Amino acid sequence: MHELPVMNGILRVVMKHAAMNRVTKVAAIQLRVGKLSDLEEKWMQHYFDYLTQGTVADGAKLEIEWGDVVMRCAGCDREFTTEPHTEAFGICPHCKGKGGKILSGKEYYVKNMVAL
Ligand SMILES: [Zn+2]
Repeated sequence: MHELPVMNGILRVVMKHAAMNRVTKVAAIQLRVGKLSDLEEKWMQHYFDYLTQGTVADGAKLEIEWGDVVMRCAGCDREFTTEPHTEAFGICPHCKGKGGKILSGKEYYVKNMVAL
């Protein structure tokens, strides 16, 4: 369960921006989370609610945009999008080779925040 430190870090970014822009109430926070980040939405929401109590982000809506996993094939060097937790995961659609370098899918960051 590594959602707690992750949400802590995310909220630190949110609070910093809120303070810089003199925001008194955050309405929504949009997160970009890669599908390989191992973060679960219910735990993110749980810790978010817990950590934001009494802050300017108390009651803010957490919106998660799940980012696709993009790999570069080790066989043919082409990039492809692959769906985790499926049989086809990591298999190149061009040459049917398996494996390669993960280019994106593990990221998580604040994409946008909406202030009232
Ligand atoms: Zn390939």
